[in-house]
Amino acid sequence: MALDAIQNFQQLVETALENHCTISEVVLEYEMESTEKSRVELLEQMLGNWRVMKNSVLEGMAKQEATMGGLVKGSASIVEAAIAAKRISEDRLSKTVLRALAVAELNASMGLIVAAPTAGSCGILPAVLVTAQEEKNYPDDKIVMSLFTAAGIGLVLAKNASIAGAEGGCQAECGSAASMAAGALTELAGGTVNQVAEAVALSLKNVLGLTCDPVGGLVEVPCIKRNSFLAVNAIVASDLALAGIRSVIPVDEVIGAMKETGELMPLALKETAQGGLAATPTGKVIGKKLQEETFEK
Ligand code: SF4
Repeated sequence: MALDAIQNFQQLVETALENHCTISEVVLEYEMESTEKSRVELLEQMLGNWRVMKNSVLEGMAKQEATMGGLVKGSASIVEAAIAAKRISEDRLSKTVLRALAVAELNASMGLIVAAPTAGSCGILPAVLVTAQEEKNYPDDKIVMSLFTAAGIGLVLAKNASIAGAEGGCQAECGSAASMAAGALTELAGGTVNQVAEAVALSLKNVLGLTCDPVGGLVEVPCIKRNSFLAVNAIVASDLALAGIRSVIPVDEVIGAMKETGELMPLALKETAQGGLAATPTGKVIGKKLQEETFEK
């Protein structure tokens, strides 16, 4: 298949339909052309990423120490204990939630994670895919292919909008991660190419306007818990798409709306720690304390 560049989502969908293949195949082919690496090399590389993702879930779950800034400690263990005590149900949502918390907290403790698409949003994709694998017994090679779908979605988002909180707010970071996870999960579950596109659109629509307002400028509050909420967002979007629900606004137009929303967002809400939760009375106190501790060191 000839593909000079992936420009937008419609192009991804059309190329897949013309070639009677999945979006992951289109993205893998594109990667082979643009990196001049072989299929085997790229699959190996992605398998390496998948192993790091799985390990980050395990490491994050086992971690008991507080994060670097000291704002969050053992949130995955807290949820795990609540499940064990049957205070909350043990279903795929609660498992996804605790895995997203685990990986995001590991990131805030300088552990090894895969930025997908960024470090701040690193918990969403592993949480969704590890839980899907546990539930449906998907082999690693199928998950690896779904990661190419996620990569293609990230590429389209980066090209046509943004994947950086400093540029587009958290809609661009955790929002993009959730769309990547929604699309990957939909393909993994046997959804059609068009259903993958719908999952991306549905997921992204629900996060438009999400601000980037990290307390004290650290990727801890609200980032860690936000990973868990947006992992669930991804699952809901995928379920809706697989059920046959369609987004009234086409996916590329939703991506365009995300870009425009990011441009309209004031700087105070784009990772500057000057607005939103960072500017609340508590957020300011924490920010000041963190600053003083930094100067004392
Ligand atoms: S709030 Fe900002 S720093 Fe935190 S995850 Fe979202 S985009 Fe990243």
